[in-house]
Amino acid sequence: MSCDFLELAVPGVRSMSPYQPGKPIEELAREQGLPVEDIVKLASNENPLGPPPSAVKAMTDSLAELARYPDGSSYLLKQALAEKLNVAPEQLTLGNGSNDVLVLLAESFLDSDGSAIYSQYAFVVYPLAVKAVGAEGIVVPALNYGHDLEAMAAAIKENTRIVFLANPNNPTGTSFSEQQLLEFLDKVPERVIVVLDEAYFEYGIGGDLPNGINLLDRYRNLVVTRTFSKAYGLAGARVGYSISNPEIADVLNRLRQPFNLNLLAQFGAVAALQDDAYMQKSIEINQQGMEFLEQGFADLGLSWISSSGNFITVDMKRDAMPVYEGLLAEGVIVRPVGNYGMPEHLRISIGLPEENRRCLEALARVLA
Ligand code: PMP
Repeated sequence: MSCDFLELAVPGVRSMSPYQPGKPIEELAREQGLPVEDIVKLASNENPLGPPPSAVKAMTDSLAELARYPDGSSYLLKQALAEKLNVAPEQLTLGNGSNDVLVLLAESFLDSDGSAIYSQYAFVVYPLAVKAVGAEGIVVPALNYGHDLEAMAAAIKENTRIVFLANPNNPTGTSFSEQQLLEFLDKVPERVIVVLDEAYFEYGIGGDLPNGINLLDRYRNLVVTRTFSKAYGLAGARVGYSISNPEIADVLNRLRQPFNLNLLAQFGAVAALQDDAYMQKSIEINQQGMEFLEQGFADLGLSWISSSGNFITVDMKRDAMPVYEGLLAEGVIVRPVGNYGMPEHLRISIGLPEENRRCLEALARVLA
């Protein structure tokens, strides 16, 4: 009799469904017989500017080193980050994307005796990471699509080890204020780690999003995660990190694979971190694109969830899958969010002006 390998997998893994990424450009080009250049991908909250040229140069210059292992401690990147963020290098844990750090947190602090809390509609990697280690995931109903922080604090149980917060949240773009965050943190016992996922933090610079790093001195159980995948334009290089008190960083570093940050990624991230002009442009183009898309959605009679990220989630007021398919046929890839329990919404990443325009035009034709 042949083995059922799914049955052999550990229970937590058996209960998971694979992460559904945005459709790759090449796949749609093959399926629709369209040239790759004609496809607009607004599905993965990537930086539409392309990678920072400074990072591309640094990575290209480091190619000759590829026969060597990378620096397992990522010394240069940690130094650069510590200086930029005004923290100590010992507070940093680097990951193969911030996804890696989120998984490290779950693996370090949770097992089948523990529970973790996250919001309805919160980033899907939280439940995946929690289920993988066989822990209980407690989902707290959302408030206007965002985190209900009061209810999340009230949901903490004796065996709760982690609360995941996303500010802003993906896929809803919702955010909470510093006041709300402080009230929440004051209610959480120190034995419960609060993971504050700030993957889209840079897009909010100048606005009123709280900066979790400023609160680390007051809350020893706070861990802030950030990434180079969004405003820093390096999603393909896979660099993310957490900032925490050094004791938590020490725990995470025990489990971290020694070479989880590849050599090219380390050089690219150091260069990107210093590229203020690129960052400025990323933020500007995002703000302008957001306003343009919002106006376009309003003209189409659509409503949306106000977003603090580089994407916007729009209510199609009907089953969103045929709209998604219609957009694909027009060469425009967006993201369905039915897997989040939002079957009538589509998440659209902010693109270049021309990409945003094509997306709106295609949407108008599909909805007509
Ligand atoms: N957190 C949030 C809220 C995200 O949206 C994402 C990317 N989709 C991540 C974390 C992980 O990104 P990365 O692993 O590329 O850093």
